[in-house]
Amino acid sequence: MSETRVRIAPSPTGDPHVGTGYIALFNYCLAKKDGGKFILRIEDTDQSRCSKESENMIFDSLRWLGLEWDEGPDIGGEYGPYRQSERLDIYKKYANELVEKGHAYQCFCSKERLDQIRKVQTSANRPTGYDGQCRRLSSEEAKSKIDNGEAHVIRMKIDRTDGAQTSFYDEIRKKDICYQNKEIDDQVILKGDGFPTYHLASVVDDYLMKITHVIRGEEWMTSTPKHILLYQYFGWDIPKFAHLSLLRNADKNKSKISKRKNPVSLTWFRACGYMPHVMINFFALMGYHAQDEEKFTIDTITKSFDFNNFGTSSPAFDFIKLNNLNGLYLREGSQEEFISYICQKDKDQADYLKSILAIIQERVDQDHPFQYWVETFFKRALVYSKEEFDAIKREPAEISKVLKDLAKYLEKLQVTNEQELKEAIMGFQEKSGFSSKQYMMTVRVSTLEKKYSLPLFESLWVIGKDGVTQRLKQAKDFLNQK
Ligand code: GLU
Repeated sequence: MSETRVRIAPSPTGDPHVGTGYIALFNYCLAKKDGGKFILRIEDTDQSRCSKESENMIFDSLRWLGLEWDEGPDIGGEYGPYRQSERLDIYKKYANELVEKGHAYQCFCSKERLDQIRKVQTSANRPTGYDGQCRRLSSEEAKSKIDNGEAHVIRMKIDRTDGAQTSFYDEIRKKDICYQNKEIDDQVILKGDGFPTYHLASVVDDYLMKITHVIRGEEWMTSTPKHILLYQYFGWDIPKFAHLSLLRNADKNKSKISKRKNPVSLTWFRACGYMPHVMINFFALMGYHAQDEEKFTIDTITKSFDFNNFGTSSPAFDFIKLNNLNGLYLREGSQEEFISYICQKDKDQADYLKSILAIIQERVDQDHPFQYWVETFFKRALVYSKEEFDAIKREPAEISKVLKDLAKYLEKLQVTNEQELKEAIMGFQEKSGFSSKQYMMTVRVSTLEKKYSLPLFESLWVIGKDGVTQRLKQAKDFLNQK
């Protein structure tokens, strides 16, 4: 039997997601159980959204959780490079191979044409997808277009004959999952700029890196038939697939866990004093059912690892449970652990606290003690008061709109320092239609709850762009309730 090789393949966009920790944990445990290898691959093919900073945060967060990898971009390995942006030639070669074999074709359709197809399909309530126009080009026609310098992508040529279907066995659901090929789009595998899409890159890398089990979130399940087809086109052995249930918000709608409702950044949990072994235990409690007791560690999950132990219903990310668990560990932990928690000896927690202290030190006095200033930095659900918003002297609906637009705008931006965050926020004032005073009050009250005199941008930088965006949305929700 070949050595077990599994991977976690995050895209370095924004903060490292709790879902990455969750999926990494189970991959890691299977590798350890089988004496195999756990690989970290950075999927940075969407260059407009990826950043080195985010990549470093992924490294830090996984290490913090205790999920050290055996091969990866920072430590190398036999099957590198482990960063997809450094493997472009490989993907190009394989995409061309598929064209030669007749499993893929060049598509020259313009964005305008594709938008138009989508529009027509959407308004007719039909599933969206490429209409296959360029499938019909002969290889001579395609070649002459390429020679003329026409921009193009490469698409998979899905076999659409009646009844054609693609299936795979899911280790968790313990059954074949079957898709009609008619439902599968002629997926782009290589973009016009020479970058691969996720599908091609993922399959080529999983093959070349000798991955034996693909354990990933359920949200990728609909991509898997495309991947199976790619394996078949290339004539490669297909790895085992296991799709773990999605983490959900603990609300009525059971929506996929999102920034909108919960903090989802591992960096956030770390900064707020949740201990790594508590996070691990919590992840296991959500998705893994090996025993009755509540305590799980990396070691116990490793020992008991079995695909039969995973549920298929989507676990809720229940903060009350997580907080109870953190409390439980604190009460049962050694005095040293307790002191370290209370004194915030954990480096990141200490760093977070230090940056807060730098802001509040000169403001602490008898009337406004430490707690008064520090509280808002650690809050998840902010407590707003109507009076604070009334003082802005604009209608709640107007304020709510500004908050919504500003949050949307910030979400798309990458900022790497306080100055950039400040410029981004200040730069939005003109678009808001508010006077400068009204706008600044809106930002301040929404993010720090009160008009009190914390230095705004220093504080916002400490809270972080994602935290700020989340606060703006909370304030918007508060106003919309009224
Ligand atoms: N890059 C994908 C992600 O961000 C990887 C999905 C997979 O594991 O195939 O989660």
